[in-house]
Amino acid sequence: MPGSVGAFGPLEIVGLVVVIAVLYTIAVNLITTWRSAMGAGSAHRRAMEQWHARVEQAKLKRAEAEKPEEGWAGFRKFKIGKKIPETKDLCSFYLVPHDNKPLPEFKPGQFLTFRLNIPGQPKPVMRCYSLSDAPRPDYYRVTIKRAPGLSSCFFHDVLKQGDILDVRAPGGDFFLDMNKDRPVVLLGGGIGLTPVLSMLNEITKRGMKLETWFFYGMKNGTEHAQKKHIETVAAANPNVKLNICYSQPDPAKDAQGRDYQHASRVTVDLLRKLLPSSNYDYYLCGPPPFMESLVTGLQKWGVPDENVHFEAFGPATVKKKEAASGAPKGTGKVTFAKSGKTIEWSGKETCILDFGEANGLKLNCGCRAGNCGECAVAIQGGEVEYGKSPSFKCDKGTVLTCLSVPKGDCTIDA
Ligand SMILES: Cc1cc2nc3c(=O)[nH]c(=O)nc-3n(C[C@H](O)[C@H](O)[C@H](O)COP(=O)(O)OP(=O)(O)OC[C@H]3O[C@@H](n4cnc5c(N)ncnc54)[C@H](O)[C@@H]3O)c2cc1C
Repeated sequence: MPGSVGAFGPLEIVGLVVVIAVLYTIAVNLITTWRSAMGAGSAHRRAMEQWHARVEQAKLKRAEAEKPEEGWAGFRKFKIGKKIPETKDLCSFYLVPHDNKPLPEFKPGQFLTFRLNIPGQPKPVMRCYSLSDAPRPDYYRVTIKRAPGLSSCFFHDVLKQGDILDVRAPGGDFFLDMNKDRPVVLLGGGIGLTPVLSMLNEITKRGMKLETWFFYGMKNGTEHAQKKHIETVAAANPNVKLNICYSQPDPAKDAQGRDYQHASRVTVDLLRKLLPSSNYDYYLCGPPPFMESLVTGLQKWGVPDENVHFEAFGPATVKKKEAASGAPKGTGKVTFAKSGKTIEWSGKETCILDFGEANGLKLNCGCRAGNCGECAVAIQGGEVEYGKSPSFKCDKGTVLTCLSVPKGDCTIDA
């Protein structure tokens, strides 16, 4: 074709160039718009992320500010909100903070220390009681057995709803580690139910699927505390294996299968029969024979010491375990500075408190298990040593006479 370049004429080429230019401009504009939109989008996203982060930080700060303090120093006033009989000899006390401020959480298994002004007593009486329920925001609960003695009778016979008590913050090293995911065996004998019930309640309150064997031993139905509650908890949580042991069931009132599972004490033989293996963490609390037979039996069964956790409510069990674990025997002379007596350590007693009392001295004491701090005295010279480290943390320069023995000659302010 004349005047054409290949298939296109000059006009067509100009038109094509114009079309390409227009298309190019449109494409460039589109890309620019898309890029800036994307840029704006990511800027917006970044801004949103920063905003969310700030909101989260503010939330955390607020939660932190609202979180109850970790315990409290000294004593805090609590009102008895409710006093509920559990059995003939057991009574539960629901304690609410008198200042209405939030309650700090505790670890299931820990105890409270009470300073009681008991009429007729020359000075306040100090006693520890385990928390018997899971941590709750509005109350602490203790369950007390009539011993009979000063404090338990005061709680049972004198104290009533509305009374005010001085209470030290929850403490103690015997508690269930809620971060561990190991199956547990909880064993309570008599009033030793209290700390292990707190553990059971916390496991089930949290909806944990942790394999939990619960053994509770007592004489018969007359001593069976929290029966309905424990049965309900076990029925609602298939991971809880309930084993109630009556050592002397009353054939007229107690029915095996309905009220209890085993007509025996809680023993290691029973554990060996029921548990698929010994590979559990064991938490136990109960009277001295219960503790001694179970701790020794578990050792014999090959359960490592670090998997056996126990709480003693009194001194007898502690002494036995300490002696068994090769606690220091003590040596030297003890000078009781206030009493003006220096006495050669006999080696017969397992702590300075018993040693002083055996030699006619009257020394301050409370729980006799290293928990309440009532027997703390200043050490003026020399050193003492402990078989078991006390859960009460002493100030520098003071020692607990209920768990310590002299490490050579020493002088204490007592
Ligand atoms: C960490 C820890 C946790 C504890 N948790 C609990 C708990 O949850 N529940 C609970 O109930 N206890 C618990 N205890 C035990 C509690 O602290 C007291 O030891 C117990 O209540 C006895 O104190 P008391 O003042 O009544 O007896 P005390 O006056 O100290 O007398 C001690 C013992 O002497 C005998 N006795 C004293 N007076 C008489 C008398 N007039 N007639 C006959 N015998 C007498 C009794 O056997 C009595 O138990 C716990 C102890 C510790 C160390």
